[in-house]
Amino acid sequence: SEHPQLERVAANVYEIARTGDMRVPVRVYGSEPLIEEMRLEGDLTLTQGRNVATLPGIQKFAVVLPDGHQGYGFPIGGVAAVDTEEGVISPGGIGFDINCGVRLLRTPLTYDDVVGHEQTLVERLFETIPCGLGKGGYLDTDMDDLRGILAGGLEWMREHEHATTHDIDHCEENGSLPGDPRKVPPEALTRGLNQVGSLGSGNHFLEVQRVAEVYDREIAAAFGLEQDQVVVMIHSGSRGLGHQTCTEYIRRFERSFPAIAESLPDRQLIYAPLREQVADDYKGAMYAAANYAWANRQAMTQGVREVFERTFGVTDVELVYDVCHNVAKEERHQVNGREDEVLVHRKGATRAFPAGREEVPEAYRDVGQPVFIPGSMGASSYVLCGGDRSLELTFGSTAHGAGRVMSRTQAKREYDAGELQRTLREQGVYVRARSGATLTEEAPSAYKDVDEVIRVSDALDIGTKVARTRPVANIKG
Ligand code: 5GP
Ligand code: MN
Ligand code: MN
Repeated sequence: SEHPQLERVAANVYEIARTGDMRVPVRVYGSEPLIEEMRLEGDLTLTQGRNVATLPGIQKFAVVLPDGHQGYGFPIGGVAAVDTEEGVISPGGIGFDINCGVRLLRTPLTYDDVVGHEQTLVERLFETIPCGLGKGGYLDTDMDDLRGILAGGLEWMREHEHATTHDIDHCEENGSLPGDPRKVPPEALTRGLNQVGSLGSGNHFLEVQRVAEVYDREIAAAFGLEQDQVVVMIHSGSRGLGHQTCTEYIRRFERSFPAIAESLPDRQLIYAPLREQVADDYKGAMYAAANYAWANRQAMTQGVREVFERTFGVTDVELVYDVCHNVAKEERHQVNGREDEVLVHRKGATRAFPAGREEVPEAYRDVGQPVFIPGSMGASSYVLCGGDRSLELTFGSTAHGAGRVMSRTQAKREYDAGELQRTLREQGVYVRARSGATLTEEAPSAYKDVDEVIRVSDALDIGTKVARTRPVANIKG
């Protein structure tokens, strides 16, 4: 199919004008090379952006971020804000891995303290934190615990001494949205029962990193970060529970609204009007899954603390922040010249609120919200700060990763696990994965250039550069 026509509006800003049944234009943020990747033969990113612009109640413009690539119905790296009365909620605009997200922990160690201990560290992390499909979680949970987690997220974790007040204060939404366990499908509950504190497969990782470069020392200091410091990045989501929840609600929406399904430019856009009961049901289930994801990242944090205490004798491994990149939430934004409540779908998109927003934890309110954007196990990852123009350009959002350029199948064919491990080792990176396939599927060159994504985010002032990290030790499912 033909790519929709893009018009350059300003540096790094492109637009698909409103035509046909689009209700708003599409804003595409990217440099020429990034945009080129979205226009490769057969790539659906821009077409999907245009489809999103047809959603009832969508406000201002559909957003495609610099790491945008095609996903289920909606692009990954996309934002869609809808009116809370006339609008709709679409599981495809949130993603299968509900509240997939990234948290960063800071340690009191410097890189020198860790050199020579990488192998021990990576083995202990791998033994302590369950990886891959199934395999149990760091926490043992029965059905009552699970319901508590789904309803309360990090609040439940604190009540059960798996989280501190500091952890809660440094998490998006304080790690708790109004989840309704009764709306989570039974099969999703079963899948979630034994997975609290588990990494999941493939793209999910737990990575010990060192701060390799600091761009803004003041903001870095506000985040408790400095040059050469050892930090830990955790990327994971709601595991089988979230996936099953998404799958079942997509089916339920298709069954409830056959006429809507029929009329869509792409059936994967299936949604429920916000006025309908099933929309509320999905919201309750989606928020419950979001709470589960926070508990999951928190439980792994406890595992990291255990390993760092055992290995280095340190007890102060603290949460810098935890951000979601697959979620929809009600927020206040400027729309048509006035402030209004909208439901913001962020899929593969990180909230990036600037200084002053009340949602930003008090400790960071004067500088802006921390944002974490991973690159790959062989590249840099970034710490950013919510930028001054994010509210105006992206409903307070920025990118969430580098984005794939190569399919998993192709990467597996192209690379050799042993060789990859050796190459990484030469760069000082110790990796431990459940299988060779996991490694090759996630080979650094299977991902786009994260540096370019960050450069654009920074240039647009939607998420500004604070620090760059490099991997030291990495475990994968
Ligand atoms: P997602 O899987 O949530 O769409 O994307 C997360 C991002 O994490 C990817 O786009 C990629 O840039 C990054 N990533 C994947 N694997 C690794 C890894 O092992 N280490 C780091 N630092 N980043 C990774
Ligand atoms: Mn995920
Ligand atoms: Mn993710």
